[in-house]
Amino acid sequence: MAWTEHQHSLLQALGLRVWTPPVAEAGSLAPAPAEPPRVAAAATPSAAVPAAAPTVAPTAAPTAAPVALPSAARGALGTLGWPELREAVAACRACSLCEKRTQTVFGVGHEQAPWMVVGEAPGEQEDREGEPFVGAAGQLLDRMLAALQLTRVADGDARPEQRVYIANTLKCRPPGNRNPQPDELAKCEPFLVRQIELVKPRLILAMGRFAVQALLRSDEPIGKLRGRVHRYQGVPLVVTYHPAYLLRNLPEKAKAWDDLCLAAEVFERAS
Ligand code: SF4
Repeated sequence: MAWTEHQHSLLQALGLRVWTPPVAEAGSLAPAPAEPPRVAAAATPSAAVPAAAPTVAPTAAPTAAPVALPSAARGALGTLGWPELREAVAACRACSLCEKRTQTVFGVGHEQAPWMVVGEAPGEQEDREGEPFVGAAGQLLDRMLAALQLTRVADGDARPEQRVYIANTLKCRPPGNRNPQPDELAKCEPFLVRQIELVKPRLILAMGRFAVQALLRSDEPIGKLRGRVHRYQGVPLVVTYHPAYLLRNLPEKAKAWDDLCLAAEVFERAS
């Protein structure tokens, strides 16, 4: 999607960066990388979050160390394909969230998408519809993705590089939309781990505190982790705010847009 002059003026008036899609070869969104992506040095999980102060939306993206997959998360799910994994989630009663759910919320999008969005937990509407990121927060996410020419629609006419897979860290709704508990996150994590293994994304966008905690093993606030590139199992990972938070804190939208621009830049370099 090309920005119109009016949209350019509007974004600039709002103080937002304008993301310009790369000039693509026929049928391709991404050009050949100008330089290879920088790869973080190997480190222990505890060194996953560097001490360096983050910068906000840099044009050059520093990297953080990779995070080791916890052995508890490897488990018996490691050999399951999509249908078996979907069934395992639907039947799961590993934590007490199973008791009040209407249904599990597995994930949505193309199963080999190069982009993967990881959110937090289903809300009321997600619990009802069985799909992550629906309602106002989901509409905002869709608009953010559309601004980068990305889509969660798996069977549309999007080019392969425009496809996104979306999954939550928790597959069942916490009652009253309360925060997920550590034991719930730990028990549900293997499902997300296997989803990431199956999707094999080229870039992960972690949205919100609990997605970041699950993927980066970090308790640092989003504001300190955004603006740079992390790694999850070698996959570049960009941190940003959850759309539900953005709806309550409109001034932060500009930062989220910067995060998306950073993600797009990293994706292009890695393609
Ligand atoms: S939240 Fe996850 S671990 Fe808990 S019952 Fe649902 S699927 Fe199972």
